[in-house]
Amino acid sequence: MTDLPEPLQATPPESESVLENGRLQATKILPANFTLFHSLDLTNRKLVIGMNVTGILLLFVFGWLFWGMAALLTPQLFLLQLQIFFNTLSIPTVLLIIVLVVLLHELSHALFFWLFSRERPKIGFNLLYAYAAAPDWYFTRRQFVLIGLAPVLLITLAGFIALPWVSVVTTARLVLALTVNAAGAIGDFIVVLWVLGQPANILLRDEGTAVSAYKAARKQ
Ligand SMILES: [Zn+2]
Repeated sequence: MTDLPEPLQATPPESESVLENGRLQATKILPANFTLFHSLDLTNRKLVIGMNVTGILLLFVFGWLFWGMAALLTPQLFLLQLQIFFNTLSIPTVLLIIVLVVLLHELSHALFFWLFSRERPKIGFNLLYAYAAAPDWYFTRRQFVLIGLAPVLLITLAGFIALPWVSVVTTARLVLALTVNAAGAIGDFIVVLWVLGQPANILLRDEGTAVSAYKAARKQ
C-alpha cells in the first residue's frame, strides 16, 4: 500500500504562502484549503505490466530513431549500419552504459527538483534501484512536468550535440545510452501524461510509489 498523506492532519497558517503574484509555486506546506483529490498508483499491476511491455517496445522505437539520427549526422554510418553497433558493444560495456545512464537520469530529475525547491533532493542508488525525490515538496503542474521530462530532454539534447563529434565506436555507445534513457523513461512519460490530464491549478507530490494531486476545495 502507498503511504498517502493525510491532508487534514496539519493546519498550515496561510494559504497565501504558496501564492506569489496570484500564482501557485512550490511549497513544503500544503495550503489549508487544498485537499487530495486524485492519486496515480504506480504499483497498480496492470499499469506495471503495461509499462514494462511499452518500455521494451520503446527500446526498439527509440533505438531505430536515434540510430537514424546518428546516421543522418554521420552519413558513413549508413554503410556500416547495425554491424558496428553490435561489434562495438560487449556485455560489460552495455552494463556500464546502463549504470551511467541510470545515474545521469536520476541526477537530471534531481537537478530540476533542486531548481524548483532550492533544497537538496534525496538521491539513492544501488545495483537494482535508483531514485531522486523531494518527498516533502508540493510542486505546480508545470514544474512537475519539467521534473518528469528533464532526463529525456537534457540527456537526449546533450547526446545529439555530441553525436557529430564522436568516433563511430562512441556513436554506437551513445545511441545505446540515449535509447536506454528514453525507453527507461516510460514511467516518467506515464506520470507526465497523467499530470497533464489534471486541472492546471493543482499541487503535486511524488510519494515514491504514487503521485498525488491536491487542489483547492473551493474557488476563492
Ligand atoms: Zn525518470
